[in-house]
Amino acid sequence: MMNIFLINPPNCGRSIPEERYGISSLKQIFRGEPLALEELAGNLLEHTVRILDLKADPDGLDRELIEFQPDVVGITGVTCEANTMLQLAAMVKESCRATVVIGGIHASNDPAFFNHAAVDYIVVGIGKKVFADLVRALESDTDTSDLPGVIRTRPGRQLERPPLRNTVDDLVMERPPNYDLISRYRSHYILEKLGITLGFVASAYGCPHRCLFCSIQGQTGGSYLTKSIATVIRDIGLLVDSPVIRLVDANTFGDAKRAIALGRALLASGFNKQYLADIRSDTVVRHPEMLREWKEAGLRAVIIGFEELDDASLSAMNKANKACMNAEAISILNDIGITIVGDFIVSPDYDEDDFDRLGTYLTTRRIDLPMITVMTPLPGTPLYRQERHRIINHNLDYYTLTNAVTTTKLDEERFYSRYAALLANSHQNARL
Ligand code: SF4
Repeated sequence: MMNIFLINPPNCGRSIPEERYGISSLKQIFRGEPLALEELAGNLLEHTVRILDLKADPDGLDRELIEFQPDVVGITGVTCEANTMLQLAAMVKESCRATVVIGGIHASNDPAFFNHAAVDYIVVGIGKKVFADLVRALESDTDTSDLPGVIRTRPGRQLERPPLRNTVDDLVMERPPNYDLISRYRSHYILEKLGITLGFVASAYGCPHRCLFCSIQGQTGGSYLTKSIATVIRDIGLLVDSPVIRLVDANTFGDAKRAIALGRALLASGFNKQYLADIRSDTVVRHPEMLREWKEAGLRAVIIGFEELDDASLSAMNKANKACMNAEAISILNDIGITIVGDFIVSPDYDEDDFDRLGTYLTTRRIDLPMITVMTPLPGTPLYRQERHRIINHNLDYYTLTNAVTTTKLDEERFYSRYAALLANSHQNARL
């Protein structure tokens, strides 16, 4: 039996508009339970596991390291947390002799970033099975070099990357996430606008689509993997005290037949819960009846990546969707009464007319909560390979999706003031 310590990084993204121009409204704050770590912990039943969420307990690291004396430390994080993940790894190495393992979406898309002396292993992909395999190998002191998805760091030398396995076996469905490990933080995970406790459930991994900017491909190597309906129902049932469930999948409805079955199972389950889930606009248009059934089952809001306003821009980002689909989906969802959280991406190439156009679009359509980000070439994505030559800011602390890391067409201060004004106007009448 080993002591396994899993760490979720603190809020650490930086903001160019705040630092240079005093515009603080664009700073990103992440909040939500560290489901990826709870899933890992669910497959480590033979060990003693603790989770530290530094977003909820920012000063807990030293205390926990001294108290727990871990054998293995796992650190997850997204791209804007990557520098902090390395700092945390160095702090762990200074304080104890634990093996340090890095995982998460940035590690999966750009493992070379973590080829560092403070890191022993990098786990790429979903990790639930692979991390447990690695812990087993470490405990028995056996060779780790053939473990798919596990990379031994070699600072100063190129990483050798074993092939990533992408099958439903990696979801280890027979073992649910260990939600108990974060119960002391549960009050931090709320929908701020409503003051309602929010529980996270994963029902699907990856996405069948290939948008250039999207980092989700790294999670599964491009596959779309789904949990069985019974598994999803079981996991939701574990969150007894959470009246609202966020299905955290990048695309909950990527397989329409399964999504219809899941909606019906939710209805039959008798849970008195509400759900938030991601869907594409073309799926809404193709399956309005499915959305009506989901509404009956408790679907309160959908998150849709509308991204841009015209077909040429959508095509340039390989969205494989049309502006008319976006318009029709808005009208269908308004009609059914499902709240729309709409994602839009502002390009650093936006000029005054582009901002005006997006502002008009948002004021003339009923999108209940627009979410507006700046197009960011995240390392490991096709967009990064395309735009690499234009990047002027390589500090990943700024890759929060609210900073321009390439040059802006407008004067930079003007770009951020228009962006901030757009966000403020569109949130004035926000509903969720
Ligand atoms: S549809 Fe959404 S989740 Fe899928 S690749 Fe595009 S942006 Fe990513």
